[in-house]
Amino acid sequence: MNKVRQPAPQLEGLVPYDPKYLPAEAYLSANENPRDVDAEVRADIARRIAAVPLNRYPDPLANRLRDLIAEANGLARENVLIGNGGDELLFDLALAWGGPGRKFLNLPPTFSVYAANARLTNTACVDVPRRDDFSIDEEAVLRRLAAGDIDFVIVTSPNNPTGERAPLPFIEQLLNATDALVMVDEAYFEFSRETVRPLLDAHENLVILRTFSKAFSLAGVRLGYILASPWVIDQFAKVRQPYSVDAVSQVVGEAVFQNRARFEPGIREIIEERGRVQEALRAIPGVRPYPSDANWILFRMEGADAAWEYLYERGVLVRDFSHAPGLEGCLRATIGTPEQNDRLLAGLRAFVAARAEERARAARASA
Ligand SMILES: *Cc1c(COP(=O)(O)O)cnc(C)c1O
Repeated sequence: MNKVRQPAPQLEGLVPYDPKYLPAEAYLSANENPRDVDAEVRADIARRIAAVPLNRYPDPLANRLRDLIAEANGLARENVLIGNGGDELLFDLALAWGGPGRKFLNLPPTFSVYAANARLTNTACVDVPRRDDFSIDEEAVLRRLAAGDIDFVIVTSPNNPTGERAPLPFIEQLLNATDALVMVDEAYFEFSRETVRPLLDAHENLVILRTFSKAFSLAGVRLGYILASPWVIDQFAKVRQPYSVDAVSQVVGEAVFQNRARFEPGIREIIEERGRVQEALRAIPGVRPYPSDANWILFRMEGADAAWEYLYERGVLVRDFSHAPGLEGCLRATIGTPEQNDRLLAGLRAFVAARAEERARAARASA
């Protein structure tokens, strides 16, 4: 047969996830750590990989890594599950708590993967939009949950791409107000220095998501994890791919996690640079940066799409949200090395100056 029938109806109109990764000199588009794993940790990783039996299936649950993460968080192995990136665990969440006839509460603008997963699993997505300053409309969320029909909620803290943490008292209130599963996505908590981990002991309905991709420089390896009650972990275990975390990734994760103190200076530098870039952006006429607790800054400006192009032509790749709902006119720049950040700032200053010059010329011509 030279034709094929249509795929499942929920795929209609969906576009595959596109990170918009283009060749550039300064990659400030994907919230990665600008510094790769250092040479000593790399040597440790190489030694461990050399000892991995490649002909054998990996430990399906990555128990050695699980134990390391459990211990660091004052938990037991049964409270931890490792995934092929946080993204796999987000999909598992939609498989386990979503599905036909079930509802997911989303707080847009936020990480687009959540709504895409809901759609793929035929889960209804109920939006409670953030306010204009991107803070959560807490009363509206609690009011919507009171109806009792929501099966799971995701609160991203800090929220990607807007940057601010969710207030801890609000999350506690949320956990007390509903029996829906509440995922707090802490993919960037190493940069905000705040976690809801203390709320785990008293709240069976809390699940915390974290990743090795951002602070720990392992976006290329694909490792994430959740912390939750053993019963919640069991439900995720029912839907996960049995061998999604390969044996090589497991030992890389172990090496990095055991050496995690070595990443601290890099994290501190990113936090300091975030403050510097925030101030420098605020000083550029017409550029309005939003506060950030993460490793990027979202900013709004006139001609954002043209600015994206201008920066890209000069080797700086940032993320263009200028046509995304609720984020009109916004670009998101990951905090890079000080040199990369300088390059971003110089590019933006030049763009704004060139536009002002153009406008002045046009005004003279029409006078
Ligand atoms: C990056 C990110 C993740 C997880 O990414 P992985 O690379 O799949 O671990 C989860 N949530 C948010 C909001 C992110 O930005």
